[in-house]
Amino acid sequence: MSECIFCKIIKGEIASYKVYEDENNLAFLDINPHAKGHVVVIPKDHAETIFELSDEKMEKLSIAIKRTIEKINLVLQPEGYNVGWNHGKIGGQTVPHLHVHIFPRYSGDQGGSVHSIVNNNGGISVEQLAKKFEKI
Ligand code: 5GP
Ligand code: ZN
Repeated sequence: MSECIFCKIIKGEIASYKVYEDENNLAFLDINPHAKGHVVVIPKDHAETIFELSDEKMEKLSIAIKRTIEKINLVLQPEGYNVGWNHGKIGGQTVPHLHVHIFPRYSGDQGGSVHSIVNNNGGISVEQLAKKFEKI
């Protein structure tokens, strides 16, 4: 998409600091890092969410995430990672081009786990939820 900022980064119209690139994906340093070595990995196909990305490209994206983490390991030697993406507006997605955040973690960095994103079970039991899934 011509007005998408991440498509512009792929085309080189907006500068970025590349960490990893292959035929289908690009990983670059986040402009507003929340951790030392905070990187976003994006598919080169414009897709707002995983629902618009083909299964084939999703597979390739997961390998690119692994390669990017391998490279961060080499350069920064973090002690762990949080990896994930804000999916949809309610999930905190601000750029409408699928991007996977990689947050390297270091002891003493005062960060949390993915469990700190939300803690609201919606008032429904695990058993009731399981029944809903059984119906599909
Ligand atoms: P979201 O909130 O959509 O999950 O994350 C978007 C991320 O993209 C943010 O962490 C933001 O800092 C980053 N970002 C937005 N615009 C740019 C840009 O032009 N260059 C780079 N390197 N990162 C950007
Ligand atoms: Zn795009």
